[in-house]
Amino acid sequence: MKNMSKTNQISSLENLPLRVGITGGIGSGKTTACKLFEQLGIPVYYADERAKTLMVNDKGMVKKIKLLFGDEAYLPDGNLNRKHIAGLVFQHTDLLEKLNGIVHPAVLKDGEKWHRQQKGVPYTIKESAILFEIGSQGFYDKIVMIYAPKVIRLERAMLRDGLSKEAVEARMAKQMDDEKKKLIADFVLVNDGKKGLEQQVLALHEQLLGMYGFE
Ligand code: ATP
Repeated sequence: MKNMSKTNQISSLENLPLRVGITGGIGSGKTTACKLFEQLGIPVYYADERAKTLMVNDKGMVKKIKLLFGDEAYLPDGNLNRKHIAGLVFQHTDLLEKLNGIVHPAVLKDGEKWHRQQKGVPYTIKESAILFEIGSQGFYDKIVMIYAPKVIRLERAMLRDGLSKEAVEARMAKQMDDEKKKLIADFVLVNDGKKGLEQQVLALHEQLLGMYGFE
């Protein structure tokens, strides 16, 4: 085993795959990077997507959300009534905190369950845009930040989501500052369209394998 002192060691002590978290601001390229890791055989848990699924399918969560927002929180087809929820959150800001208090712990628990089911892999990845914002650092052995300059992220998100500059900027304002993220992350991959992301992903993959004696 190499460089063990550099890691949190939580996973290696349990003889489980290493837990790697990938984060970064809107439009930085987290999903793009995760798809590259998937091509290398690494399982990826997409926390945001999973949260959306659980909010609709997890009976316990549905019950709690209905208690908070009423039965109208769900449409007749079972899907989330986002308009109703957004309206109430707009009027009562504490409701957002309460909703997050239901969703975030449940997703972390679900992600942990998923991680424990992954066998025969050196590490797993959890993609989470709000990894630092929700203070979930302790759940990971290593944290990777995908970095791209703000102007590039803005352009990418506007193009991808068909949003206005103001709408993307409003989302950015809710996220932690990139410089702070860089300081906490163990690795930073630069996805500015100049430095090749694929080569950086491959180099990091090899580094992670080496750290845990998988070379
Ligand atoms: P979000 O947090 O908003 O979901 P993200 O960090 O997961 O975003 P991606 O969805 O991977 O970001 O990338 C945002 C957009 O930018 C996508 O349309 C993607 O195809 C594009 N993109 C990502 N990286 C690059 C790149 N190096 N060159 C060109 N386009 C890119």
